[in-house]
Amino acid sequence: MGELLLTNARVLDGLGGEIQNATIRLDDGRVAEISPGADVVPGPGFEVMDLSGKTLMPALVDAHVHLSSYETLPPLLRGEEPRADAVHYFELANIARNLIRMGILTVRDVGSMDDHALHLRQAIRLGLSAGPRILTCARIVSATSPGCRIFTTMYRPADGVDEIRKAVREQLAMGADFVKIMATGARSVVLEDPEPAQLTREEVRTVVEEAHRLGKRVAAHAEGSGGTRIAVEEGVDTIEHGLSLHRTPELLDLMAEQDQTLVPTLSTFHDVSEDHAEKYPCTLVEQAKRQREEAYRTLTAAREAGVRIAMGFDSYPLGENARELARMVEGGLTPMQGIVAATSAAAAALGLEDVGEVRVGATADLLVVDGDPLEDPSVLQNLTRIHLVLQAGSPVNAA
Ligand SMILES: [Zn+2]
Repeated sequence: MGELLLTNARVLDGLGGEIQNATIRLDDGRVAEISPGADVVPGPGFEVMDLSGKTLMPALVDAHVHLSSYETLPPLLRGEEPRADAVHYFELANIARNLIRMGILTVRDVGSMDDHALHLRQAIRLGLSAGPRILTCARIVSATSPGCRIFTTMYRPADGVDEIRKAVREQLAMGADFVKIMATGARSVVLEDPEPAQLTREEVRTVVEEAHRLGKRVAAHAEGSGGTRIAVEEGVDTIEHGLSLHRTPELLDLMAEQDQTLVPTLSTFHDVSEDHAEKYPCTLVEQAKRQREEAYRTLTAAREAGVRIAMGFDSYPLGENARELARMVEGGLTPMQGIVAATSAAAAALGLEDVGEVRVGATADLLVVDGDPLEDPSVLQNLTRIHLVLQAGSPVNAA
């Protein structure tokens, strides 16, 4: 990969900073130089791209996706040819392409059936499919619970500290990048009450000890206060959903102090309460309406407490992940705070230091938007406004 010079760029650096009319030199997949103004003189062999009127920012990082949980094909009609299971892998490859052409170049998969995220990650690494960098938990470590009957191969049921320790080790043996636990029940399961803790304090402590000792992070699905308290106090790195946190300001203060991250996943509450309500029993729809309100209250309370907030879509269609960014802005973040949540803060939550920022030395995972995402964050959901995506300095093919 040769050197590329991006000129006349307005840069949002992902950390809350802005540079006008910058020249950015990329070399060997990394950002080699950033200079305000047009001081960099292109040498021979440089490719020059003029980005006048465009906004350059870090590629998006999504901290909470489920790569294989949603249908992307129209429902099978009577008499149509049955679809082979293997066709699903092509669907996954298509999802991976949809993500990168929208400038979402890093995703953390927090649960997929049949180890699909692991398989897709391997296919992308082998160059068999274009796609984002994928971090996966392999299977979710859960207490034996009603959700295990619904989410089957997405979960690894485990009870008691010894079994929990083994379950964590199994996920790492499979190649998990981090460990995901169900600290509480799920709002999407009728037989589960999302309020009480589902794992005991000793079990959560064991997960955190085991993962951290081996240099891996822990993400906790946490809805009600009981399980959320245990997850925060025992040092879980990212609190997923965390909607009840507005009720316990002391836990938000503790999260800020301990450098923990909240992934509010507002979109998933919209899914169950309105956008896809027809797919859920009405008890869950009513519950989701209450939870949606709580999730927004927690978003502003977390911001006030200085808790790091990371974007996690937890919804679909994948590729339109920035819908979550727009919702966080509607919920009270400034557009710049929303962009930070979807770039550097999400990267920090995942423990990644080379993406999420436009910085000398960082991987050149960059997104160039036609328009101003600070004025209208929804441009990030619109393919026609995505001018250019560079993955490690190379343009992503939009086809
Ligand atoms: Zn989720």
